[in-house]
Amino acid sequence: MRIALIAHDGKKADMVHFLSGFKDRLLEADVSLFATGTTGSHIERAGFEVEKLMSGPYGGDAQIAAMAAEKKLDLVIFFRDPLDKHPHEPDVQMLMRICDVHNIPLATNLASAKLMFKQITTDLQDGK
Ligand code: PGA
Repeated sequence: MRIALIAHDGKKADMVHFLSGFKDRLLEADVSLFATGTTGSHIERAGFEVEKLMSGPYGGDAQIAAMAAEKKLDLVIFFRDPLDKHPHEPDVQMLMRICDVHNIPLATNLASAKLMFKQITTDLQDGK
């Protein structure tokens, strides 16, 4: 299971809190984590192993979109901050579009991400 993680600045604390809630199950399961640069640093500090790509505004979202297009991802968790402006908004839109084109599960808020992670970690424990 290859999971990409991205959080805008206003949502990075939420991302770390969210992942920490699933830490035991994630560490036990066969899961590879990928993240945009700064999000990845926060996740690492929380004790996870994660492959860091470029920072979002410098192309990290585009790198994750390319992985999605190449079917190298199974899930994208993207905590967007809808109350802030982002210089790389075109990349954000592109990533979401590519996920839809390739039917890759995409959670853009905490509630959706929780539902997906509950299902995925249960499936992985059941060996599905
Ligand atoms: P960052 O990028 O993790 O490098 O901050 C996230 C984003 O803004 O897309």
